[in-house]
Order: sequence, then structure tokens, then C-alpha cells
Amino acid sequence: MNKITILLLTIILFSCTKKESVDTIIINGNIYTVNDNFDKAQAFAIKYGKIIDVGSTLEIQSKYAPTYINDIKGKTIVPGFIDAHCHFLGLGMQQQKVDLSGTKSFDEVVQRIVDFQKEKNTNYITGRGWDQNDWEVKEFPTKEKLDELFPNTPIAVQRVDGHALLANQAAIDLAGVTTNSKEEGGFIVKKDGKLTGIFIDGPMRLISSKIPPASINEIAQGLKDAERICFNLGLTTVDDAGLSREVVELIDSLQKSGELKMRIYAMISASDKSIDYFTNKGIIKTDRLNIRSFKVYADGALGSRGAAMKESYSDKHNHFGAMVTPLEDLERFAKKIASSDYQMNTHAIGDSAIYVMLKTYKDVLKDKKNRRWRIEHAQIIDKNDFDNFENILPSVQPTHATSDMYWAEERVGSERIKGAYAFKNLLNKYGKIALGTDFPVEKVSPLLTFYAAVARKDLNNYPENGFQMENALTREETLKGMTIWAAYSNFEEHEKGSIEIGKMADFIVLNKNIMEIEPENIPYINIIETYVGGEKVK
Ligand SMILES: [Zn+2]
Repeated sequence: MNKITILLLTIILFSCTKKESVDTIIINGNIYTVNDNFDKAQAFAIKYGKIIDVGSTLEIQSKYAPTYINDIKGKTIVPGFIDAHCHFLGLGMQQQKVDLSGTKSFDEVVQRIVDFQKEKNTNYITGRGWDQNDWEVKEFPTKEKLDELFPNTPIAVQRVDGHALLANQAAIDLAGVTTNSKEEGGFIVKKDGKLTGIFIDGPMRLISSKIPPASINEIAQGLKDAERICFNLGLTTVDDAGLSREVVELIDSLQKSGELKMRIYAMISASDKSIDYFTNKGIIKTDRLNIRSFKVYADGALGSRGAAMKESYSDKHNHFGAMVTPLEDLERFAKKIASSDYQMNTHAIGDSAIYVMLKTYKDVLKDKKNRRWRIEHAQIIDKNDFDNFENILPSVQPTHATSDMYWAEERVGSERIKGAYAFKNLLNKYGKIALGTDFPVEKVSPLLTFYAAVARKDLNNYPENGFQMENALTREETLKGMTIWAAYSNFEEHEKGSIEIGKMADFIVLNKNIMEIEPENIPYINIIETYVGGEKVK
């Protein structure tokens, strides 16, 4: 062999042994890794669903032999968004009901019901959102057309405010309602002595109590529908704040059969039964499901003046809101959960509920470290109570701030409002903050969360200078709150939340640089691609 051949052979051998085969390399990206130094990168390599290297395009190309090269052409990549507090199943079940909001006539209501049933073919059609005040004929509708089109399928659709319901004859028959049925706490509307199908307030129960509970198939369909919506918006993990044992078992089986790919942090709805069952079983953890927390309700919401306040509401004399779970139950739950490895995540909105929960947590946790117990929402905080967040993790929803800012001060007055939606103060106390949406109460899009946290304005650019801007988060803090800190709040910061070696390849490609474009353009960014474990899901 001559020298040149030997040299060539050496090069071939060398490059063969040198280049590791991988599934995919991502190159030429504008990548925010969200690692500890908040470093940027251009490229990374994916093998078996995990990130095995991160670096420059040149480095990654020279080291790896990929099956697939994804040239991002300068676009921005961030870790997949994690919604730290949402109702994923709730969103899914909403898709199993016909949405009648914004209808301009009863004909349109009927058309939407027909279209819905073509797609879903359910045994009982339910829905909500019609409002006769939006129609030309501003009168309550009647059931004849629905009887004609759906003689055998029961239909019960609620008015936008939930205080009136239109039922067809099939639903009325199923409920056994006649013109002689009792009208307690409301009315059954009749015309010429016949039922029109309209039920107002109390008697709505006659119909709604006979609506069959969702079947397993419907719940499974709901989960899949919610997943499609979330993947399209760049979410790769969702923390569902309140699921039953039956639903988490269904989720687990759908994930194992590959029908559901969303990663889910499932907070179990707390009761003595569920706490005993799950703490006994211990933490349940797969790549896509993590069961190690309970969701507890302390009080109500601010809008309906249900949030428990230390002093009276400013716009309702002698009204303090209320705790929705008795204190002795809260304390018993906390004690039980503290003696397991589970996390306790409590809905607390008013300053009194937050105070009580911080104290309860402190009492039962004593010197137990790193339990990461969360206060969900943490909306109105007494200025004297911020210090107690040193060991308690705040889990907040920035769009609640921009949805409530129009009337929140009326509820609590000019002093208490200073401790409201105080995300920066909370971040400064704990050192981290987990961000979420509470969808479907708010819109699903994490871009709206990002915008609300940074700009603290609504989509009409109101208020001009932002709402209580001293509590705005920087873009870096916001991105962390939606990725690595949310992962931390789930005890998952070692497996997700950043683009680093060893982490799951959960990431999204954006058409604009979310860290640099004008804030008012953030809500309109497009999520071009979404990846879960290296698999393209959008
Ligand atoms: Zn919630």
C-alpha cells in the first residue's frame, strides 16, 4: 500500500469511529438553552429522545452522524413550555360540548349543534353560550326545531350565564318532566300550556341531573383534543390542578399505548380517601406522568368576592369571602401529606387564605427541607406575609393579573392592591416562581402568559404604562418561570425545562425572537414546530 492509501484509510477509519450516530441534529438555531448561565447555542444532538450534546453548528456537525438534520435557519428555539397550573382535562371536556358563544341567531345555534354532532356523534348533546340578547329576535328560543332534527338524541344547552337552559323533547322525556312538574327556585317556561324547552334557574336541575356522566371514551377523546390544542401552542408539559384516580389511571394507559404524548404533572384532588390511597402507593413516575402532589382548595375567587380576606371587601360592606374547606380538614390533609413524599398545592387567593395556608404549611413541615409545597394563585398578599414565602413556592398565572386589573382595586382598595399579583416580590422571596394559566379559565396560549408577565397589559395595550409594573418580570425570569422553574415546581428540573445534555428533547421553534421583539408583538408569535422527546408533535 502506498502512503496516500494508508492516509485515506486512516481518515476514513478515524471519521467512522469518531462520528457518533444520532437520531437528529438541530443546526443553525438561535437557541436559548435556559441553563444556569442562560447561555445561547446554535445546535444540539438528539438520541433516543434525549439531548446528548449542545454547542455550535460546526461542533455538532463535526461530531455526529445524524439520521436527520433539521436546519432551523436562524429561527429561535426555547425549551417546550410547561404550564404549572391548568385544567388540561377541563379544556378537553369543554371540547366535548357544543360552543354556542357569539351566535347571532337561533338558526346559527341549531347549525352549530348539527355540525358538532356530525363530528362527535354523542348520545347526549350538551353545550353553553347562547344569548338571545345577541339575536335579532331577542326572545327565548323554543325547542321545535331541535325536536325535528334530533327526535331521539337529548339536547340541553345553557345560556351564556348558566341561568337558563334549552332542552329538546328527548331530554325532557328522559328527565320525566311534564307540564305539571314543580317549579322550585325558578321557572319552567310554557306557551299555550305546553313546554317550550326553556328552564330557568332551579328547574334546570330537573334536566341537568339526568345528563349521563362522561364515558371513558369521551374522557379519552377530551384528553386527546386538549393535547392537540396544547401542542399547537408550544406546551410540552401541563400541570393539571386536580384529577381523580380514575382519570390518572386512564392517562397512564393512554400514554403507555402511545395514544397520548403530552407530559402530565397530575395533582390529585385531595380528599381523605385519595390522600390515603396515593401516599400509601408512593410517588408514581413515568417519562410522561408524574403523580406526587395533591390539589387542595382553601378559598374562592376574587371576582365573585369568594376569596377569603382578612378585612372586609372594599366594595361590599362586612363581606370577607370564605374558606371553602374547613380549617380542620386543611390541617389534617397537610399533616398526612407532610408525612409522605407528596407535595401539597393549595388554591389560596385572598390574603387571609394565604396567611392561613402559609402558617399551616410551616406548622406541619417544621424543618423538613425541599418539599416545594406550593401556593396556587397567591393573588392578594398582606405585605407582612411576603416573608413567609421564603420556603413556600408561589405558582401564579400572569394573565389573571391582566384579566382582573380592571376591577381588582375596587374589590380590595388602594392599599391592599399593592400586594396583589406581586410576581416580582414573590420571586425575590423564594428565588423562583412557577408560571401557568389556569386554562380554560384563561386562554391556553403560553405566549399570552409571557406577554402578561413582561408587559402587564391587555391586548389593547392597556394600561399604557402597564399594571403595577414594579411587579413585572424580565423576559429571562418569565422564560425561566415557564420552563426550568416550572419544572422545578414539579421536581423535574433534572429532566426537563432547559436544553442541556441529558434532558428530554422537549423544545419549540418560534418564528420570532421572543426575547427581543417588541413586547406588543409577543402574543402574535407563531409556534412553528413542537417536539416532545425529539418527536415532532406539531
Ligand atoms: Zn385552577
